[in-house]
Amino acid sequence: MNYKEYGKTGKQVSTIGFGAMRFEEPENTEKSVQTVLKAFELGINYFDTAPGYCNDLSEINVGHAVKKMKKSGKPFYVSTKSSKADGKELREQLENSLKRLNLDTIDFFHCWYVLTLDEWEKRKAGGAVDAILKAREEGLIRHAVFSTHLPGPDIRKVVEENYFEGVTLGYSAINFPYREKGVQAAFEHNMGVVVMNPLGGGLIPANEDSFDFLKIREGQNILDGALHFLMSDPRITVSLVGFRNEEDVETAVQSVERGESNLYNDREIEFLRNKINTDLNNLCTSCMYCDGCPEGITPWKYMETANLLYLNALQPLSSRLQLHWGADIKALENCTECRECEEKCTQHLPILERFELLKKKVKEEKA
Ligand code: SF4
Ligand code: SF4
Repeated sequence: MNYKEYGKTGKQVSTIGFGAMRFEEPENTEKSVQTVLKAFELGINYFDTAPGYCNDLSEINVGHAVKKMKKSGKPFYVSTKSSKADGKELREQLENSLKRLNLDTIDFFHCWYVLTLDEWEKRKAGGAVDAILKAREEGLIRHAVFSTHLPGPDIRKVVEENYFEGVTLGYSAINFPYREKGVQAAFEHNMGVVVMNPLGGGLIPANEDSFDFLKIREGQNILDGALHFLMSDPRITVSLVGFRNEEDVETAVQSVERGESNLYNDREIEFLRNKINTDLNNLCTSCMYCDGCPEGITPWKYMETANLLYLNALQPLSSRLQLHWGADIKALENCTECRECEEKCTQHLPILERFELLKKKVKEEKA
């Protein structure tokens, strides 16, 4: 396992991190803790969790593993988060996280899920940012960082305010142009950059044929293609992989080891960037942040299905909707076009436009 310095914190973190939001059976403490410990044994030392992941069981499971990892004497780093805008509420959530994680100090504490610049202003006005900085002064956290779904230029604005030492953002072979300027801004400011969704929310392995071009070296599999692309980028510190079980951990670590000794050169990176830019712009990553439609519509089911239009998938859209998602195209008739989902969309996709396209194509299939 290779390690990189996280920004200018002096912490050497593993090039892949443990994303603790996908435990296969989160209520099975022993199995979940074993999954964390397997990662630690194989060299992963960055563990990312959050209150609410797996109904709080993620922090609890990581907390059990923390007790065992402490005994090893080897360094490890825990990251957690709060999306509260109110300083007092954030502090309360932070204290609960410390208890669940069995820690006196959280290494990387995120001002979590900054979706718009308006919201960023609310975090400052509500006292959340001050509460994070105070907690750092008091030693409850070591490093103040933020996580965001903002587009690149907006990320630059937050970075340039100099509150934080690092950023966590969605970035993958699918969507990298969208946040490119943010990654560059963080790098220029010597900040750590942690990438979430490196596999495009599972879209890349699920559409292996369409993403085949990511495999540019002999013997690579699709996971290698997606991960090696990120690992070869000197600006990216950690790629977070959501692990379900020990097997997932072993598979990812093997992939990393294959890439470490054979990173892409500049010419290969440029080739991939050009290819992705032209071939795969604008896909839904199924992140589900557009959840909460007042009309009870589940936009991501339709948007993930609409990806097939761009991926040239052979599966009929209607069967994808019905068999994979159990969704009915007729539900879209209830859409009032309030655009709430579009405002929340992490990829800033034209959801309503795609609904119309989807309706038209499904109708054509039935004709
Ligand atoms: S635009 Fe339509 S799908 Fe989106 S939140 Fe509003 S009603 Fe729901
Ligand atoms: S439509 Fe946007 S917010 Fe919704 S799942 Fe897709 S990428 Fe995420």
